[in-house]
Amino acid sequence: MHGSLAQAFSPDYLAARSRFRAAASALGLRLESYTIGAAGPSGEDLTIDVTLGGVEGASRVVVISSGLHGVEGFFGSAVQVALLEGGLAGWSPTSRVGLVLLHALNPFGFAWVRRVNEDNVDLNRNFLLHDETFAGSPARYAHLDWLLNPRFAPSWLDPFVLKALLTILWYGMPELKQAVAGGQYDFPRGLFFGGHSPSTTRRVLAEQLPRWIGDAGSVLHIDLHTGLGRWATSHLLLDRGIPEVRAERLRECFGADRVKYSDPVNGIDYRVRGGLGAWCQSLFPDRVYDLVCAEFGTYSPVWVLAALREENQAHHWGSPGDRATRDAKRRLMEAFVPRDKGWRAVVVAQALELIACAYGADYAPQSCVIQRSR
Ligand SMILES: [Zn+2]
Repeated sequence: MHGSLAQAFSPDYLAARSRFRAAASALGLRLESYTIGAAGPSGEDLTIDVTLGGVEGASRVVVISSGLHGVEGFFGSAVQVALLEGGLAGWSPTSRVGLVLLHALNPFGFAWVRRVNEDNVDLNRNFLLHDETFAGSPARYAHLDWLLNPRFAPSWLDPFVLKALLTILWYGMPELKQAVAGGQYDFPRGLFFGGHSPSTTRRVLAEQLPRWIGDAGSVLHIDLHTGLGRWATSHLLLDRGIPEVRAERLRECFGADRVKYSDPVNGIDYRVRGGLGAWCQSLFPDRVYDLVCAEFGTYSPVWVLAALREENQAHHWGSPGDRATRDAKRRLMEAFVPRDKGWRAVVVAQALELIACAYGADYAPQSCVIQRSR
């Protein structure tokens, strides 16, 4: 069973989208497509695809989204395809729990193998709330700009990992990761740039999400990500805005050791400005909208950051056809979607178990705890 789950990965965005659409159609689920107005490498129109199921007026909805960080869509799409092709992990189209699958929230990054969108925007920093402005950066980010965003094409004469390790020793890891990855709005060509205005993806969600979830009073949204945490392990990260009583419910559902509040000091992550979760809740202030960021680990943070930096450098300062650019894309792909078949099978299996838990019951059963795979 696990071995075949590695087959759910597609070689590129177009293949992934076709497979997603075909699998949803085969089940008779409703499909919608939203163009973002940018083209892929073969000139194809890039779209956010959505499939919906469940009875009219479901009181509870489960949302599974993929590819908010473009390249991570290879993994998220594989999970959604495995779910659709493999029996829906216990859900049925006549279920009283609604199911919404959002395929490729950042189709540009998926198609071009980037984390960011067509405007170099990290979409999980673009969802600022109505009283926040698209400006500002962590104080240390400007100090680190020289290290993170070099203004020349990738070169062997640029020992990033050594420089990064020395910088970590200087600042300490918690402070550094917060300054680097928390989100910035002042360096448009830099890493973790949140944009200067709402993205197309955000506009599509603002317009359509109310219709997709209908009258449901309770929404559980799993947003699939990779690149954070130890190899082939998973964590569910909660926004600090989710009240403790709901966090407890999520721990009962998914397992206490797996569900964590965002914790830059002791945890694997960092506090994010402009994250999707708090924004979704703000759209529906009188309902329960719990978004968990499901992170599946690949390589070490420095390795992942090195890959992000190199691809961003090649994108802005290299040439598209250069070998250095192709190598940078290949390394980014490996950092977020390792080729290793074992990794692929294990993380998809873990994600399917999480999804089964999500709609399995009213967040309740103690038995709904994920088994650790290693
Ligand atoms: Zn991500």
